[in-house]
This record gives sequence, structure tokens and C-alpha cells, in this order.
Amino acid sequence: MPDVDIAILGGGCAGLSLAARLSATGLSFRVIEPRETYTDDRAWSFWRTGPDPFVDCVRASWSRWTVAGPHRTVTRGSRRYPYQTVTAGAFYARALSLIDDAAQGSIACGVHAGAVEPKAGGSHVDTSDGGFTAAHVIDARTPRRRPDYGQFFLGREIVTDDAVFDPDTVPLMHFRKGYSTGVDFLYILPFARDRALVEVTSFAPSAPADAVMADWLGHEIAACGANAHTVLREERGPCPWRSGIATPPRRR
Ligand SMILES: Cc1cc2nc3c(=O)[nH]c(=O)nc-3n(C[C@H](O)[C@H](O)[C@H](O)COP(=O)(O)OP(=O)(O)OC[C@H]3O[C@@H](n4cnc5c(N)ncnc54)[C@H](O)[C@@H]3O)c2cc1C
Repeated sequence: MPDVDIAILGGGCAGLSLAARLSATGLSFRVIEPRETYTDDRAWSFWRTGPDPFVDCVRASWSRWTVAGPHRTVTRGSRRYPYQTVTAGAFYARALSLIDDAAQGSIACGVHAGAVEPKAGGSHVDTSDGGFTAAHVIDARTPRRRPDYGQFFLGREIVTDDAVFDPDTVPLMHFRKGYSTGVDFLYILPFARDRALVEVTSFAPSAPADAVMADWLGHEIAACGANAHTVLREERGPCPWRSGIATPPRRR
């Protein structure tokens, strides 16, 4: 008999989402996660299409958003499918509490998963804290490769001296030109009239230089009218988009 029904390698968004759902099933599972502790390291935004175990972690919800090009801004919205933000800190805390309550679930923090070898009845998982067997293995570890096509972003959550944001409408994709060799746009999550996450983003084969991103973001923050402001936190990163993306056809 394997030690557990399901081994989850990587306790990030995907791994913890799965563990949270498994915690209500009676299946046994073990999450392997190198982080010793979780921090509020990011925020996820998405259109809510139904309930999930993380509804209580929603920080903000909007039913209106805009997309803007050089000549026109289009406003769209939906009360049925609101656009929402979940903060990672609240998400991690909720997932860990559900795992804690699970009769046959656990998470091993500070542990790295290694090789996974097929074995009769499942797989053997090697970890920095010894090995174990599982009937099924879900590998949700960070990909090792550096993204060669991706979304590159730099954002700052700021509090402004003046009320410069519209908290009812998300500027979702306000397209800009010339920062990367791909598609560039500005994105703002307005949490209040004086508080927002302002982010510049490129979908591109490679990231613009750090200085380019920083200058661009500074310019956008100033353009919001947020000259006097305090930075609460900064987020940056690459999201690999390579898998599933077809290579663009060559120009003739
Ligand atoms: C600042 C920031 C903001 C973002 N905002 C958004 C957003 O608004 N919307 C959106 O859709 N996406 C966003 N993303 C992208 C985000 O990375 C993904 O949405 C999501 O976190 C991916 O989930 P994941 O579980 O695949 O990866 P992760 O959440 O990165 O989890 C991978 C896990 O694998 C673990 N791991 C690594 N090596 C090992 C090992 N050897 N053994 C075991 N575990 C291992 C890592 O510690 C990590 O916990 C953002 C990313 C960042 C960095």
C-alpha cells in the first residue's frame, strides 16, 4: 500500500488549491514545500465564475473594467462574473488551515521534492527529508527553465495624498507602445480613491530592462496624478507562457 493517495509536489497556488479541495474528501495527501513560512508575496486577480474555498480571501471585487488603445477606451462589466483580487497571504493562511483540519492530509514545509520514480501501485517520491510512496503524484513545482516567452511585470501598491483613483472601475489593459518587443500595457487595481496597485506589464519574448520598467512605472504613476504617494509594497516577476504558445509564424 502506498503511504498516501496523493503526493503534491509544490505548495504554491496550484498545489495548495488542490490540497484545500482534497481536505474535504477523506483521501490522504502530503504536500511537499521548500518554503519554511509563507509571506504575502503576491495577489491574484481573475473573473469569479463560481464559489471556491477561498471566497473569504477576496480583497476587492469590481463589476466594471476598461480596455484602452491609443484612440479609444472601451468600458465593459459584469455583475455575474466580477473581477476579483485575492491576496496570497490570506490564500496561504486559508489553505494551511484547511490542510490542518484534514483528517488524512499534511504539508511538509522546508522540504524539497526530488526524483519521482514509478513503483508498483504508484510512485516513489524522493525528498530532502526521506522518501515516501503515493498512488498519484501531482507535480506543481516551479518550472526550472527561465521563461523565453512570458508576462513580465513590475507593480507598486501605493497610497496617494490626493483621491486620484476610481475604485469602481479597473483599468484592465491600457495598451502602450515601445517598452518591449511584445505587447505592453498598464494595469491598475484601485482599492480605494487613494490606494491602488499600479502595474506595467509586457507579454514578450524577453523582459524589458529593469530600468525601463522602473521608468515606465514611475511615469504611469505620475500620469495618474499620484505625484505625492507612499509605496506600500512592490511586486515583480516573470510568468512563463511558453508551454501551449504556438511559435509565431515567420514574416515573409
Ligand atoms: C508578484 C506576482 C504576481 C502575480 N499575479 C498574478 C495574477 O494576478 N494572476 C495570475 O493568474 N497569476 C499571477 N502571477 C503568476 C503566478 O505565479 C501564478 O498565477 C501562480 O502562482 C502559479 O501557481 P503555481 O502553483 O503553478 O506556482 P507557484 O505558486 O509559484 O508554486 C510553485 C511551488 O513549487 C515550490 N517548489 C519549488 N521547487 C520545489 C521542490 N523541489 N519541491 C517542492 N516544491 C517546490 C515553490 O516553493 C512554490 O511554492 C503572479 C506572480 C507573481 C510572482
